[in-house]
Amino acid sequence: MNSPTPAPADGGTAATASNDQGSARERTRQLAAELAETQVRLDRATARFRDVIERNPDAQIVVGADGLVRFANPAAAELFGVAQEELHGSHFGFPLVVRDTTEVDLLARGKSLTAEMRVLPTEWEGEDAYIASLRDVTERKLAELEARRLIRVEADYAAAETSARTLGVLLESTMLLSSSLDYQETLRTLAKLCTDQIADWTVIYGLDQKGDPQRLVVIHREPKLAALAEELSRIPIDPQTAHPVLDVVRSGKPSVVPLISAEELSRMRISARELEIARALGVRSWMLVPMIARGRALGAIAFVRADRAFTDQEAVFAQDLAHRAALAVDNALLYDEARRATRTKADLLTVVSHDLRTPLTAIMGYSDLLLLGIPQPLLDGQRDQVVRMQTAARHLLFLLNELIEFSRLDAGAVRIHLQPVRLADVVNEVAVVMEPLAAERGLNFRAESADGLTVETDPDRLRQILMNLVGNAVKYTPRGSVALETRRDGDSVVIYVRDTGQGIAPEHISRIFDPFWQVESPERRRPEGAGIGLSVVKRLAELLNARISVESEVGNGSTFTVKLPVHAQANPAPRPTTTPG
Ligand code: ADP
Repeated sequence: MNSPTPAPADGGTAATASNDQGSARERTRQLAAELAETQVRLDRATARFRDVIERNPDAQIVVGADGLVRFANPAAAELFGVAQEELHGSHFGFPLVVRDTTEVDLLARGKSLTAEMRVLPTEWEGEDAYIASLRDVTERKLAELEARRLIRVEADYAAAETSARTLGVLLESTMLLSSSLDYQETLRTLAKLCTDQIADWTVIYGLDQKGDPQRLVVIHREPKLAALAEELSRIPIDPQTAHPVLDVVRSGKPSVVPLISAEELSRMRISARELEIARALGVRSWMLVPMIARGRALGAIAFVRADRAFTDQEAVFAQDLAHRAALAVDNALLYDEARRATRTKADLLTVVSHDLRTPLTAIMGYSDLLLLGIPQPLLDGQRDQVVRMQTAARHLLFLLNELIEFSRLDAGAVRIHLQPVRLADVVNEVAVVMEPLAAERGLNFRAESADGLTVETDPDRLRQILMNLVGNAVKYTPRGSVALETRRDGDSVVIYVRDTGQGIAPEHISRIFDPFWQVESPERRRPEGAGIGLSVVKRLAELLNARISVESEVGNGSTFTVKLPVHAQANPAPRPTTTPG
């Protein structure tokens, strides 16, 4: 407000004063008019402002500096679920952070809501105040949460799917890798698997006799690069160079090179030809993972990519695969060793038994001559001794023949010749040999075969089976009888070898067909054989497609049954076993 104009100092100047007063009044009137106009404008502006906030779809709340609500629009009443008047004068309650948009949670109409709030300073009815603008974002918030949840679920699902796929691949790999015990085949399967799954090309390294890694297999995805890959597999790795596989095998730790430049590659200290081939096959990134089984390094796998880096997930996958591969390679190596040992054992057995047979045949031949009285008749006592010598030699020959037969079967060297065979003929041949032996032991011997039974089989092998079974029956029957019977059963013939001997305990039944296995007990005499008769029987039966079974009771004897198809489809020779048992 302006202050009143001061009065003149003396009364002589009344006219001037009256003029002055007139203009002052005029001025006052003008000011009053201006004021009234301003007031009208202000009122209009206030009304407009009120109108704007009144109609605003967002909740608008005017809060005084004391925190009490001065004004709330209908949207605010709606948001808080109370009448507009109830809000007036109430405590606002939310911190007033000017200009920032904050999120506030509120409880209204029994529901919890989220609102976005923006606060601006204002003036309200002449005092400083704040205007808080609130927007209900509950639905948007829920939608955002839902979207986030869906994204999480999707991510979880994708991760689960990836790990399921990885697991599937790993399981399949395990099956593939364990499907063969052949070392070379296992390595090729492995290299192909790695190349199919993640690499452009794969190198499998084994260890040479000095324990240094050497390439065994190199496989490239591109068939036209196969020859180069093959050439690389033949280049020996010089342990004096800095080939990265040397470190991996020595430390047992994987090495991952995410990206390698052409210059870096050319700086590698490997031979010029290795480098040239590596470039031609394409090298951009590699992972070198050791193969370790039973704590022992067996080699390594190099996964190589020509164009891009491996991901962390792929590095984990590669290590898992290498672990499984190591087990398969270990098994294949063990099998190889076992097979070599078996072959050595079989070779030794054959050589030794053949070498023993020659002098033994000479002993038997000369003892025959002595018994024939050549060069001169024997005295009575001498004859007896020569007969004993001959019996011992015959027994030795029997054992040797058994050993030779076993090693031939073990090496898969026995072939069979199928032909129609009259069963009665084979039974008679067995009886001719076995009856005297049974008689020698005071046993009753009976052999019968149904008339006209014919089977398609190998007569020599069948005879061998029956000789062994009847021989055992005689051997393990101290008193009583031994019988050989046959009968037809549909498409098969069944041959029974029965005895009333010592029998076999149930816990031994499953072992008696194992090579070199014999029932031993303190009260039993040491068996006469070498413990391979029944294993020979079992293998011969397999060759003839026959089934052998046994029923036995200790003290009451045993019955061995051979079931033979009338029309035999011969089996291929069984693979040699790796270990006895
Ligand atoms: P071997 O007779 O040379 O010991 P086999 O392989 O023929 O070897 O038999 C294995 C074992 O099975 C024998 O040691 C014996 O204990 C038992 N066995 C085989 N046949 C009979 C049988 N008929 N009665 C009782 N035991 C038997």
